[in-house]
This record gives sequence, structure tokens and C-alpha cells, in this order.
Amino acid sequence: MAAQYVGRFAPSPSGPLHFGSLATALASFLDARQNRGHWLLRIEDIDPPREVSGATDEIISALICHGLQWDGEITRQSERSDLYDRALAELHRNGHLYACTCTRKQLRAAGKSGPGCPQNCKSLDLAHEDNPLRVAVPSGCVTANDLLLGAQIARVDEDPGDFLVRRRGGLYAYQLAVVVDDYHQQVTHVVRGADLLDNSPRQVALAGLLGYPAPRYLHLPLALDDTGRKLSKQTGARPIDNNSALDNLLSAWTFLGQIALQARPQNIAEFLQFAVGRWSRQLLPRANSAICC
Ligand code: GLU
Repeated sequence: MAAQYVGRFAPSPSGPLHFGSLATALASFLDARQNRGHWLLRIEDIDPPREVSGATDEIISALICHGLQWDGEITRQSERSDLYDRALAELHRNGHLYACTCTRKQLRAAGKSGPGCPQNCKSLDLAHEDNPLRVAVPSGCVTANDLLLGAQIARVDEDPGDFLVRRRGGLYAYQLAVVVDDYHQQVTHVVRGADLLDNSPRQVALAGLLGYPAPRYLHLPLALDDTGRKLSKQTGARPIDNNSALDNLLSAWTFLGQIALQARPQNIAEFLQFAVGRWSRQLLPRANSAICC
């Protein structure tokens, strides 16, 4: 029987974990453990140009040092091309896929009526790696259910319109890989940063075209730097220091708006045991809901 709750942490190896990604890992770990669920670790390494050498190992050791132990084997997207190809074939079979070299600007200028391609891209060869592939999204509103922010309703057909599922050079797009993996790993709950909030209706739409159920979402507040920008691996946010793991966890717990501790825990195991019991989604600061219909 499938588990009632399967969560996952899905970092891209574009740099070591920073405070924001640690808070995301902690929240998704606690939400899964409190619900007696599985918690999976998936390395999203499908974008070689953005990958930083050694980042995967650093992420893994940071999780271990912080006591955030996942269940089962680590999954690596770079080893799952077969699943992504099968999903592309399925979309193609059902008439939801077309090759298109148009820029986003050209597509926007053309509006969307039927497959949103203003040029004659439809005659392009789908198998050719140089040709990006778009999914033809259904018209109408799509709803992603967020456990904190409520229903996120969007007209995916209007914005962003038909989106890429395979990029130039044969690279699988994030949207495709994440939807296919969440389905095959039977993920029921996606806990992640609010920077990905407006991707959720797109992912629900794609899951629907593939006949997959949509997961539930929980989008977390974003950690910002001194200038108000989101901490990000690509912009060189400071890596967390594994030597101060307990302090890092306590700071992440506070950042996540959770109940104050009466006394400092003796060690990480004691903190995590307490945190699993007292974790509350309702205490999370609300990230702005970015989508309207
Ligand atoms: N790989 C993405 C990141 O590191 C997260 C994707 C997701 O959680 O859906 O930001």
C-alpha cells in the first residue's frame, strides 16, 4: 500500500546549502515526520551548465550534519532520462506536445489560440535535439492547493502559456522532471520555497495532461539577504557552517515562526524530537500568494 504521506527535499546542485535552503529542508522534514511519512532526497541535477562541482556532496553532508536523514536511496534526476522520455512520448501521443523555437516574447505577442505558436514551428521535428518542445496547456483556470496559502488559481494558458518541457540541446525542463519524479516517487506533499509558488499551477496542469494526481503544496517564506533579495545559491549566498549545526537549526526554527523553546536543547537529536512534536504549519509566516485568476 502506498504511504499516506510522502515528502521530498529536491535541491539543485547549483551551490552548497544556505540558510534558506536549510529552512526548507527542515520544514519539509518536520512536516513529513510529524505526519509519519517518508521523506525523500532528490538531487535535481538536470541542468549541467548550472551545476557547481562538489555541490551535491556538500548538500548531502550538510543534511547529515544537521540530522536530516532521508528515507531510502538518494534519487538523481540525471539518471532518470528514460522516465522523462516516456512522459514526453505520452504527451506526444495525446497531441499535447509540439516543437517550437519561438522566444517567450514572440509567443506573448501572438497571444494563445490553440497551440500558442505564431510561426510554423509545428512542422519541426520533435525528435531533433535542437528543437525545444512545448506542452500545449489546456485553456481555463488551474488550481494548486496550498496547505497554508489556500487555492492558487491561475490561467496557465494565458501566463506563461504553452511552456517548455524540453529545452534546446535536449535538456529536460525543470517543470517536466519535477512532475514526472513527484509522480513516480508517489510524492503526496511538496514543501518548498515560495519562489516556486507560481510554478505550482503549471505543474498541476502538466500532471493532469499526463493523468497524474496533483500533490498538495506548502510554500514557505523566503529568507532574504540584507538588500531584500532572496538568498540564492547562484548569487553566492553564504553556505551554512556544519560546525554550528544546532544553532543553524534553532535559527531556522525561529525563522519558520515556530514556538519558542524554553531551554536550549542538548543536541540535534533532542531538538529534532521536540521539533517533530511541536511543528505547526499554522505558525508559518505567510509568503505572499503571487497568483490570481
Ligand atoms: N530544485 C529546486 C531548487 O533547488 C526545487 C524544486 C522543487 O522543490 O520543486 O530550488
